[in-house]
Amino acid sequence: MPIDPTQPYDDNNIFAKILRGEIPSSTVYEDDWALAFEDINPQAEIHILVIPKGRYVSWDDFSEKADADEIAGFVRAVGIVARDKGLVEPGYRMMANIGAHGGQEVPHLHVHLFGGEPLGPMIWKRG
Ligand code: AMP
Repeated sequence: MPIDPTQPYDDNNIFAKILRGEIPSSTVYEDDWALAFEDINPQAEIHILVIPKGRYVSWDDFSEKADADEIAGFVRAVGIVARDKGLVEPGYRMMANIGAHGGQEVPHLHVHLFGGEPLGPMIWKRG
């Protein structure tokens, strides 16, 4: 069920629980600003989620409210994960879904990293 990205942050969302260590995740990277873990339902050979440690519903919320250190730390973490996973030379895709039209289901900002194989068309096209 897509979320409404204009709603306040919900501390009971599943990624908040992962950040608090209340439910397990397959962590691939962590620093002061971000946590990266394997997607539980991978859509590509490699499918990693990178989330900021701060309480942000979406990219929109983050870009409006996060301070410069948080933004720099998160963006750098996404790049570090992509490099650590060997995604740069073969190429990869990064994506952040926002709200209903984007198909966002978890109301904590997350960047998807897809790779490990050719990824096909960028987006579903009208017939
Ligand atoms: P989105 O549709 O952009 O909100 O993507 C949410 C993603 O979170 C989906 O790709 C799910 O497979 C993934 N996901 C949901 N719960 C978990 C979990 N507990 N651990 C890892 N990934 C999850």
